[in-house]
Amino acid sequence: MEGQKIELIEPPYVSVQGEGCNIGRPTLFVRTAGCPVQCTWCDSKYSWDKGEFQLTEDDLDHLIESATSKVVWFTGGEPLVWRNWLLSWLKRFKTNLRDHGDFELQICTSGIYNDEPTRLLLSQLGWVTIDIKLSSAHTKLQTDMSLVDWLYQQKPLSSELKMVLSDNKDLMKACELAKKYPKFEVILQPKYVVHVVREGRATYVDYPYLLTSDRIISQEPEPGYTGWAYTLSGIAHEFPNIRFLPQFHKIIWPNIVKGV
Ligand code: SF4
Repeated sequence: MEGQKIELIEPPYVSVQGEGCNIGRPTLFVRTAGCPVQCTWCDSKYSWDKGEFQLTEDDLDHLIESATSKVVWFTGGEPLVWRNWLLSWLKRFKTNLRDHGDFELQICTSGIYNDEPTRLLLSQLGWVTIDIKLSSAHTKLQTDMSLVDWLYQQKPLSSELKMVLSDNKDLMKACELAKKYPKFEVILQPKYVVHVVREGRATYVDYPYLLTSDRIISQEPEPGYTGWAYTLSGIAHEFPNIRFLPQFHKIIWPNIVKGV
């Protein structure tokens, strides 16, 4: 595949990881274009179609070699749309770069693919995040749970399950997964909303709008969602592998800003 290009949403950049077990770590972000999953609350719908930027295998080698961060995070969109290209690049990267062991290659996938190239690629990466879409996401395609079973057998200590919770049904499902896969870290990210007054009208908004809101009048779980804020201690007792974390980037940067 040498010379072939993949499409990106934006040029690769170094920033701080905003989610999951690696939250806060300086990371080189490689965000590929294309996503057939189509979650209703997707914060990057601009990633679903063709990307404006292109990347060759050589480009990626140079970027990684010159990046200040030793952590590389492939995300999207859905990066496994490009799994054959990534496999080809990884093979060459491992052969050419003597010190490739210094780099930590990570990927975040929705887990919709479960073919041989997918498994081959995931088995060779340093960290795998499966971003499980729960029922509130109303996705077009679902995570293939047999891929999760396989990953649990292969590398439970260098993988995580991550999910956004929007209602009690999501919370119940997340607990079920934490019980089924006790060696995985299970990252729960409440889809938190804040009640503000904007232009004279009370409204519920998500994290990003906090920065531009006029006045916060209350903070509470989304209407109809009574789960996460009130049951933390019970969950902590029962599921020691669960971590409740915010999506850090959503607090700091509004959705409209790309490349941060
Ligand atoms: S998998 Fe990610 S990029 Fe794709 S639709 Fe869902 S949230 Fe958006």
